[in-house]
Amino acid sequence: MAERVFQASDDAAGLTPEAAFAVLGDETRLNVVRVLWSAGASHEYDDVDDTASTMPYSELRRRVGVEDNGRFNYHLSKLVPHFVRKTDDGYRLSGGGKRIARAVVAIAGAHDAELPGVVGTACPVCGGVVEASYEDQWLRFACTQCDGLFGDAAPNGTLLNAPFPAPGLAERTADDALATELYRCTSDLTDMMQGVCPECASAARGTLVVCDGHDPAPGEPCEACGTPFVAWGDLRCGTCQFAKRLPVELCVLALAPAIGFLYERGTNVLAPSLDDLFDLVQTRVRTTVTDDPRRAVTTIDGGDEVLTVRLDDYLTVVDVSR
Ligand SMILES: [Zn+2]
Ligand SMILES: [Zn+2]
Ligand SMILES: [Zn+2]
Repeated sequence: MAERVFQASDDAAGLTPEAAFAVLGDETRLNVVRVLWSAGASHEYDDVDDTASTMPYSELRRRVGVEDNGRFNYHLSKLVPHFVRKTDDGYRLSGGGKRIARAVVAIAGAHDAELPGVVGTACPVCGGVVEASYEDQWLRFACTQCDGLFGDAAPNGTLLNAPFPAPGLAERTADDALATELYRCTSDLTDMMQGVCPECASAARGTLVVCDGHDPAPGEPCEACGTPFVAWGDLRCGTCQFAKRLPVELCVLALAPAIGFLYERGTNVLAPSLDDLFDLVQTRVRTTVTDDPRRAVTTIDGGDEVLTVRLDDYLTVVDVSR
């Protein structure tokens, strides 16, 4: 029997990303979302009670501030059902409407920001001073004295670089922000390595990218790829374009066998310190690449035992052994 897959119901089918942008590309409609969100008019599936709170039409129109009934009706009708649900008692945000509201909250605040720059942790590569910077809503930690880890794939000195919502910076020191970003990166990576996009829940696809002429001198990056890592995991979502590109060593650390292996030995990979993570990647985790069939073979030295994980060209686990 053929496998059954989800089909959208008729009224909700076929809202393309372009159509969603078009629907939301209007101030009045975004104001409807804002007013319903501010008033808590939504179905709180994710809260403790399962009640829906709604707002009557007349109150919604008054709060949005549109006098013309016909014009308001027109805009409201564009939002139903994808972003706003109409019930017998009034209007509330849909799940999609709540996500829009949350996305707006997450992107509000500073675009670029001055951070209390220097991190308490020294650069794990060279012992130099590590500075935090925030630009274009990306939070970057970079060494002021060495080239960092990512070669040409990131600005010089980069040790960690990821998108970070501005509200998350509030009341955090640079060290707190670093711990938070490490946690978020690992969490995204565990999703992606399970084949799930953390942003949109579509299938995420992995590709193994190997430096063929990899030959780093001790303490120096390889001339061919500009990094110390022979193999990289390229993980991306074809639906929303969310992507991560990281050394295979880090991809393997996001897999359950490695998480468990290291946890038993005192390291929590899901919430690592920068020092722990670098110590792991630089001294205890090794990756080699075999041909025919091509595999990335990563070993993790646990002291008493070694864990070996083999990944194929699509970053799928082929086997795990101790
Ligand atoms: Zn450094
Ligand atoms: Zn190389
Ligand atoms: Zn996605």
